[in-house]
Amino acid sequence: MAKITTPRPVRGTQDIFGDFERRFTHVAETFERVRRLYCFNRVEVPVFESTAVFARSLGETTDVVSKEMYSFEDRGGDSLTLRPEFTAGIARAFLTEGWQQHAPLKLATHGPVFRYERPQKGRYRQFHQIDAEVIGAAEPMADVELLAMADQLLKELGISDGVTLQLNTLGDAETRDAWRAALVEHFEAHRGDLSEDSLKRLDKNPMRILDSKDPRDRPIADSAPGIDGYLTAEAADFFAAVTSGLDAAGVAWTRNDRLVRGLDYYRHTAFEFVTDRLGAQGTVLAGGRYDGLIESLGGPSTPGVGWAAGIERLAMLLEELPRPPKKIAVVAEDDDFVLPAVQYATTLRKNDFAVEAFVTANPKKRHNRALRYGADAAIFMVRHEDAMKIDFLNLRLTDTEEAALRAVMAKIVSA
Ligand code: ATP
Ligand code: MG
Repeated sequence: MAKITTPRPVRGTQDIFGDFERRFTHVAETFERVRRLYCFNRVEVPVFESTAVFARSLGETTDVVSKEMYSFEDRGGDSLTLRPEFTAGIARAFLTEGWQQHAPLKLATHGPVFRYERPQKGRYRQFHQIDAEVIGAAEPMADVELLAMADQLLKELGISDGVTLQLNTLGDAETRDAWRAALVEHFEAHRGDLSEDSLKRLDKNPMRILDSKDPRDRPIADSAPGIDGYLTAEAADFFAAVTSGLDAAGVAWTRNDRLVRGLDYYRHTAFEFVTDRLGAQGTVLAGGRYDGLIESLGGPSTPGVGWAAGIERLAMLLEELPRPPKKIAVVAEDDDFVLPAVQYATTLRKNDFAVEAFVTANPKKRHNRALRYGADAAIFMVRHEDAMKIDFLNLRLTDTEEAALRAVMAKIVSA
């Protein structure tokens, strides 16, 4: 018979289990808790959208749209794309669901996103983002609130040491145009030393060269003029309001006057939380203000600001995981006691105890399997003078925890 070969996992995807799963889940759960503290509403948006949703809003010349999207024609002939990020889909929903009536709207979500990239540590083709957006708020205090939330999240995850918030403004349209002209002049003077990709960017979107990861571009990008000489008074005021808000909220930041973001839609505030602990994949959380995005989707002029972070990158940075909830082993040491064990396990779970039941396989081995399992307490159903007797073993419960457990056990016995 021909041997059947097992299909390989798709390059750049991960199966998440064990220690990494615990880290991953801890990041997602901490985000869920923190977003509630900031009164952000959870939203779910589709994993795929019409290709136009991303192509229009992200910008045709961006890396994501030009090289990284998973686009395909479905059976009906429509061009669809697996979401490479959340913002564009949320903006689409804002328009098509009529959420304008709720503006300003504070939204949060997390889930898988897809980019065709060269996989390496911290860089995958299916990865996961947490995402927070405020749509319909033009005030700098919206930027401050989002940054304070990001800062609190990193602190609660215990990874804020060694992570810096790099902050910049991209100004308003007038500022951007003036800065852009200065950048073009600078890059033209170094045309001969730029990478091929950056030569293309020079024609289409010169600001993107500042974001290049190519070592040939870095010195030229680093010596480019910063934005400050070109800020209009309004843009400077907006940025000053953001920085004073951050200071009031106790959020540490450093200025990076050459920071730009990879997508076209950013205005005013742009930021990245960066660490040196993940090699080239140092950006853990990034975002900014996107006042032009909703218009690029055909909607009315609507301000917005948001950020996204890679769950995998945050999970890799975690040092200490919170202690898991205490686990109780319930062990039938004899097949005659399987049903009482099932009853105990179920009742304890209904009373909020995590329980693993040992009621299958060799009865003589269940005792040792339960001990090896690493439970914090064990309840053994053993045979004693032809009746069932319960042996209780406290391995790691506190006195209070043991008392709570014994109270539930007493109720089961008397029932
Ligand atoms: P990079 O410069 O690393 O490519 P980016 O600017 O493309 O990042 P964003 O579009 O801002 O990233 O996405 C927000 C966050 O998502 C990043 O800061 C990072 O933590 C994470 N991220 C982006 N691309 C990947 C990927 N391919 N694999 C894992 N995480 C990613
Ligand atoms: Mg990228």
